Amino acid sequence: MSAARVGIVGAGQLGRMMALAGYPLGIECRFVDREARSPGGQVAPLRAAPLDDRDALAALAREVDVLTFDIENVAVDALTELADIVPVYPPPRSVAIAQDRLAEKQLFQSLSIPTAPFVAIDGVADLARAGEELGWPVVLKARRLGYDGRGQRIARSRDALLAAWDDLGRVPAIAEGWVTFESELSLIAVRGAENAQVYYPLTENKHRDGILIESLAPHENPALQKSAARWLDRLMREFDYRGVLTVEFFLTQGGLVANEIAPRVHNSGHWTIEGAETSQFENHLRAILGWPLGETTSRGHAAMLNLLGALPAATQVLAIPGAHFHAYGKEPRPARKLGHCTLVDVRRDRLLTRLQALRSVVGRAD
Ligand code: AMP
Repeated sequence: MSAARVGIVGAGQLGRMMALAGYPLGIECRFVDREARSPGGQVAPLRAAPLDDRDALAALAREVDVLTFDIENVAVDALTELADIVPVYPPPRSVAIAQDRLAEKQLFQSLSIPTAPFVAIDGVADLARAGEELGWPVVLKARRLGYDGRGQRIARSRDALLAAWDDLGRVPAIAEGWVTFESELSLIAVRGAENAQVYYPLTENKHRDGILIESLAPHENPALQKSAARWLDRLMREFDYRGVLTVEFFLTQGGLVANEIAPRVHNSGHWTIEGAETSQFENHLRAILGWPLGETTSRGHAAMLNLLGALPAATQVLAIPGAHFHAYGKEPRPARKLGHCTLVDVRRDRLLTRLQALRSVVGRAD
């Protein structure tokens, strides 16, 4: 039997980790990406072209059994056209929804998934309405192309909201009511052929300046796990989903509030490489190929630290018992995600002590 072949649009670190997960299983991954030396291009064949280059995408589609992507910022029209050549998973419609914060919030509402109150902003009159309906502060977010905290402003008055919208270039936006939360959690689900589903344990995430810096798993709370899984099940059925789906939540006093979806493997699931029976990357590949899904049980407690802007020496990280080091092969740039470390331990208290040691190695005083 010839090897299974997976085409991946985008060759960032997520694509690279997918290709690495596929390798021992005999799954051949190949990429399209603008950058030949991108993280994925260093570990698997790559066709250098813009991500919306229809000829390059079609050529990739003809060489593989299934096509997927490692970023949300892909041309949905192009993905939809490729589905005539080869199955494209996750479904392009889930990408279209993830690209538009208004459509995303409306979908949550239509599926009775709790989310922050919101007002669509298309003109100055909407800004006044937002202040009245949502109270202060208001979080203003561009509908499109906002991620890692980009395209986002907090406004504490009507004047500030107008200034914030000006600052965003008066693009279509969404104003959200302020959510007071205790912590941020994410749930990663996987859906394969014939509605086979598995769920990872909830993960607790810490952000700084809108960028994920640390994850801790499992966040053990059976009631929260159950309600989050029920909502992801609704989303996956709605999309007739295949692959990994992530939803980020705020944990409030009243329970979970959905913030956003990511129709792909997710930074908050990197701990699953060493910390779970099957990694999110392997399970994504299994799901899109229609293979049996792997167990998602955690192998103890796990912590993941993102390495942003600069990499510590691998030897310093690896000197900490239970620590694993991942470098993505990227040029350093301020705040850029260059790698991550994972710690796994059967004892949570020991994990937290070692996490403190890891934080000092990576120069993060917490
Ligand atoms: P996002 O780009 O939607 O993931 O938002 C980035 C970060 O901003 C989140 O991880 C939260 O820490 C914060 N944030 C976003 N929306 C809200 C909100 N409605 N209320 C309070 N904090 C928010």
